[in-house]
Amino acid sequence: MGRTVMGYWDCPVCGSKGIAGNVMNCPACGRARGDVRFYMKDGAENTTREADERGDIEYLTEEQAQEIGKNPDWYCSFCNSLNKDHAAFCTNCGASRESSESNYFDQLKKRQEAEAAEQAAQPQPQAAQAKKKSRLPLLILIAAVIIGLIVFMNGSKTQGDLTVTALSWTRSIPIEQNIQYTEEGWTIPQGGTEVSRKQALHHYDQVLDHYEDVEVQRSREVIDHYETYYTYTDNGNGSFSEVEHQRPVYRTEYYTETETRPVYRSVPRYQTYYTYTIWRWTPVRESTSSGSDHSTFWPELILAEDEREGSPRTERYFFEVQDKKNVLTTWQIEQEADWQKINVGDGLTISTQRGSGASWIVDEKGNKLVRVYPAR
Ligand SMILES: [Zn+2]
Ligand SMILES: [Zn+2]
Repeated sequence: MGRTVMGYWDCPVCGSKGIAGNVMNCPACGRARGDVRFYMKDGAENTTREADERGDIEYLTEEQAQEIGKNPDWYCSFCNSLNKDHAAFCTNCGASRESSESNYFDQLKKRQEAEAAEQAAQPQPQAAQAKKKSRLPLLILIAAVIIGLIVFMNGSKTQGDLTVTALSWTRSIPIEQNIQYTEEGWTIPQGGTEVSRKQALHHYDQVLDHYEDVEVQRSREVIDHYETYYTYTDNGNGSFSEVEHQRPVYRTEYYTETETRPVYRSVPRYQTYYTYTIWRWTPVRESTSSGSDHSTFWPELILAEDEREGSPRTERYFFEVQDKKNVLTTWQIEQEADWQKINVGDGLTISTQRGSGASWIVDEKGNKLVRVYPAR
C-alpha cells in the first residue's frame, strides 16, 4: 500500500480555510465537520506526479495514518456531521451509525448532482440575443441598398428626338466545296480510303521481368525501462491515498529487413497506323448581297460542280440615326418585317436599360415596340 497524505477542508459555516483533515471541529467556530469537500495542499485528487515532484507532499506519520484509516467518514443524518469510520455513535449528537445510511462520498455525489442541475436550469446568456438585435439595422441598410440598386438597374437611359438618316442590309449564303484530304490515324473513319499502312508505336506495357531482394531500413518502438509515477485518491476521511504506478518508457530501435520486390520492364506495343484520303465538305466562300433601301433579295447562287450551299444563311438589317448633336449611331434589328416599317426621315426614341444594356424603340409613353442591338 502507498503512503497516506494529509487532506484539508474549509468550514462551510464560518468560512475558515485550510483546516487539517484529522481535525473534526472547526477551530474558529467550533461547528462539527459537516458538508465539506476534502482537498490536498499543492495538489489535487486524481492528478499525476512524477517520482521527483513529490517534495511538497505532506505525508502522515505511520501513527497518524493508522489513526485516520482508509475508509470514508460516515454522515450523521440527524445533525449532518461527519464521523470517523470506527465511531459507532455520532460524536456530535450521539445518534447510532446504523440509523445513518450515507457516507462522505454519497453526500459529495448528491451535492455535485444538485450543482449540475442548478447549472442546467440557468437561462441561456443574453449575449447572443443582444448581438442579433444590434445586427438588425445593418441588415435593413443592406437590404435597402440592394433594393435601390435593383431599382436603379431596372431604370433606363432614354435618347429621344432621333432622326433616321440611312437604312442598310446585307444577306449572305455560305458555299462549301468538296475537297479531298490526306489524313493519318489508328482507324479509318467512315468514307475514307486507305492509301498505306505501317506498324507504329502505340503504347508501352509494364511487364514483370524478375524479382529482386532489397535491404529496407525500418524502425520499431521497444520498452527501454519502466518509470514510477503517483496518483492521489480521496479517502473521504480527511486524508488521501498515494498510489504508485509503473509505466513503460520506449525507445526507437532501427533494423534492416530484406524485402522482395518485382522489377518491371517496358515493352513497346505496335499497332497499325493508317494513311487515308477522305472527302470533306469545307466552307470556302460566301455569296453576298446588300443594299440601302427596302428592296431586299438573296444573292444569285452560282455553284461549281464540286460546290454546294452551306448553312446557315444570314441576313442583317440596320438603320442609322442622328441625335440633336448630330452624332450618328447605327442599330441592328432582328426581324426584317420590323425593319421594313422604318423609313429615312422618321423620328424615334430609343431607350436602354441600365442593368442589362438591352435597347428598345419606344413610343411616347415609353412602351417597348422593337428590340434593337448596337451594330456589330
Ligand atoms: Zn467554522
Ligand atoms: Zn449526529
